[in-house]
Amino acid sequence: MASSASRTRSPSRGRIAFVAVAVGLAVVLTAVAAVLAMSTASSLSAGLSAHAPFSPTEAEGMIPAEAALTVDDDQHPAMTGLDGELRDALRSAQRAAEVDGIVFDVTSGWRSADYQRWLLGDAIRTYGSEAIARQYVASPGGSSHVTGHAVDIGSLDAQLWIIDHGREWGLCQTYANERWHFEKATDAGGECPAPMADARG
Ligand SMILES: [Zn+2]
Repeated sequence: MASSASRTRSPSRGRIAFVAVAVGLAVVLTAVAAVLAMSTASSLSAGLSAHAPFSPTEAEGMIPAEAALTVDDDQHPAMTGLDGELRDALRSAQRAAEVDGIVFDVTSGWRSADYQRWLLGDAIRTYGSEAIARQYVASPGGSSHVTGHAVDIGSLDAQLWIIDHGREWGLCQTYANERWHFEKATDAGGECPAPMADARG
């Protein structure tokens, strides 16, 4: 046994160095392969994804918070996308309201279906509940903003003025829980229909 042990040679320094380099190289190659695989996967998913982050633009009907429109605006898609009857009614009503010093500040008008879908998703994130979000934000298929038949008015004075006088031009508050949301819902001088409880209507 002693002679057998004495014949066992210890590995040379050169062999140890070779093994160390080989192991190190393998680790580096594995890491490089992993990084390549990850970046390929992420660029593939970015290219294929139908759910790239959507952020609403003015072309989608978004009106910046600090830049409400007048009803006379004839450039912004939120106004040009409105139904002509609604737009005419708003402009006529504005002529009467401005005698009282009231300016209708339009914070939302026509919206694209994509924008509406984004708003609903945003509300669901805010409320943490689709059921609650739907009380305030209609689905893309059910929104009168998407069809160009609704405007939201920002200032309380203007909202109250339209609630009091709007029916002379057929303008009505159509949701009980949205004091700011108006549609052309009757003929000029007609009676407004009773508002629906909320946007689920
Ligand atoms: Zn609205």
